[in-house]
Amino acid sequence: MPRADRLAAVNEPLVSRMREFGTTVFAEMTALAVRTGSINLGQGFPDTDGPAAMLERAVEAIRGGSNQYPPGPGLPELRQAVAEHRKERYGLLYDPDGEVLVTVGATEAIAAAVLALCEAGDEVIVFEPYYDSYAAAIALAGAVRRPVALRPAEGRFTFDPAELRAAVGPRTRAILVNSPHNPTGTVFTPEELSAIAAVCQEHDLVAISDEVYEHLTYDGVEHLPIAALPGMRERTVMISSVGKSFSVTGWKTGWICAPAELVRAAQTVKQFLTFTAGAPWQLAAAYALRHELGWVDGLRDALATKRDRLMAGLSAAGFEVYRPAGTYFVQTDIRPLGFTDGLDLARRLPELAGVVAIPTQVFYDRKELGRPFVRFAFCKKDEIIDEAVSRLARLPR
Ligand SMILES: *Cc1c(COP(=O)(O)O)cnc(C)c1O
Repeated sequence: MPRADRLAAVNEPLVSRMREFGTTVFAEMTALAVRTGSINLGQGFPDTDGPAAMLERAVEAIRGGSNQYPPGPGLPELRQAVAEHRKERYGLLYDPDGEVLVTVGATEAIAAAVLALCEAGDEVIVFEPYYDSYAAAIALAGAVRRPVALRPAEGRFTFDPAELRAAVGPRTRAILVNSPHNPTGTVFTPEELSAIAAVCQEHDLVAISDEVYEHLTYDGVEHLPIAALPGMRERTVMISSVGKSFSVTGWKTGWICAPAELVRAAQTVKQFLTFTAGAPWQLAAAYALRHELGWVDGLRDALATKRDRLMAGLSAAGFEVYRPAGTYFVQTDIRPLGFTDGLDLARRLPELAGVVAIPTQVFYDRKELGRPFVRFAFCKKDEIIDEAVSRLARLPR
């Protein structure tokens, strides 16, 4: 390496394919919330604990000696519990020995699937706005993302099937599907999922399906896994985790359900990312899937009420509000308040109203499509939401 390049490599040691991921808006907004004493409706994690008996199960597991490496595919208790849950809830059959893989959260599951399935130069279709780890996983694989826009229509964000079809090319390998969708709150309808499934089957693509909000849907809207559609089980990597369903985002325990050859591929990568996932959390997650789904129903009902409180407050403050059918998030359009740029507003919101939110444009490749949108999280205590709402009422309009 010439000397100048060596010096450049020291000053900018990060590989070029990761440079666009250096600083995240989450860190900026959280620091802003702390510095200004603002209410942080930016980050999407709950401020109350999951079910007590599940927490107790993790403590017992540690005290009982479950503290060494579990098997690479995950503890049999959790793989069995995951398979039972898929069967009972969705009628989907997965063999716990070979078709279920425990991962370090859904994040590792997504990364392992993308790294295992995509050659450098392959293309992956993502619906934008998208969860930030998708772009990074695709970049790590040396693959290329092809965005398809979710746009507001009749009060919710949806895509144009023609745009989806047009995004497919000879190098397309997979479609990353996320329903219920962060950050728009859209839950794909059976028709939307069928349109995606048809494209997967016509072009021999894998669906990598992030379903971490599978339990958190509202107004009687049901989550339908794309793997349940005809012809899709054999080409779907179905991903979920314990964090959102049971309010333990710090446990980082997730799983993949897929046909054996897809699980083997993901496991080949996963074994050298982390080898295995934490043992106590796996036992507690198995317990939760078997015994605490009633608690999750309560969480869902509580979140639906929080959503309504926050939506009412945001509307009263002058935002255009999109009603989410699932997830923790409300999407807003700021133009009725006279603003045009969500990043600009998000940076000023602490001073204007003492509240922090996330500018949705950061989740887009084509930033201009997301410019007027701002995302607010409602997985917070009622009194926090009420205080945020009363502060937002101060916004000039
Ligand atoms: C929170 C979140 C994840 C990450 O899940 P972990 O289990 O914490 O890794 C993945 N996808 C989406 C859409 C999320 O909101």
